[in-house]
Amino acid sequence: MVIAQRFLDVVFPRYCWKCGVWMLNESNPIACCGLCRKLWPDLRGEVGRILMQERLAIVWGQVGFRLQESEFLEEQVRTIKYRGDRWLAWHWGRWLASGSEHCPRGENALVLVPIPLHWRRKWDRGFNQAEWVARGIASVWHIPIASNWMTRATHGASLTGMSRRERQEKLERTYEVSEEMGTRPCRIVLVDDVLTTGTTFRMCAAALQDTPHRVVGAMALALA
Ligand SMILES: [Zn+2]
Repeated sequence: MVIAQRFLDVVFPRYCWKCGVWMLNESNPIACCGLCRKLWPDLRGEVGRILMQERLAIVWGQVGFRLQESEFLEEQVRTIKYRGDRWLAWHWGRWLASGSEHCPRGENALVLVPIPLHWRRKWDRGFNQAEWVARGIASVWHIPIASNWMTRATHGASLTGMSRRERQEKLERTYEVSEEMGTRPCRIVLVDDVLTTGTTFRMCAAALQDTPHRVVGAMALALA
């Protein structure tokens, strides 16, 4: 473990992403130096859980920060999403996991399931940012990711002009469970980069309802 951490220190030196100061002897993977982090509320832990419980009506969840808190944070998320910086996503995933409450223990194995992108968007973008946030979390918590268990079936078509019922049907068909899904019951934590209304999480949880698995929580890097 120590060797792995030293290796990471060399490959990804830990400097503050905001002010650039070099950070020595940090035991946790973090994105910002202590001084910079003081400038925006870090929501990991109890506050993040309460926010996620309020927004998603779930038992457990964690979130890192609110997007509108600082231009720096907004820029970080934009860089991940539109400039394809998957390692930045991975780092932030590690940061999220290192300060979060751990998901409550249970009998079945815990698995991270990133919210999938439609294949066409993933093709355009080259990667799924939620998956890389999840990889960061997984590397700290030492739990597996199942990025092929779900697929996004429909591609961002507008819902305007549809009747309420058509809209509902379309939303229900947005996410599908893939044939790759394991059959041994697991506890699933859904992971996304940004949480807005929570519709995405709810649609994924609904798609997973008739499977052997149980969604036990949700993690997002940022709240919009
Ligand atoms: Zn700093």
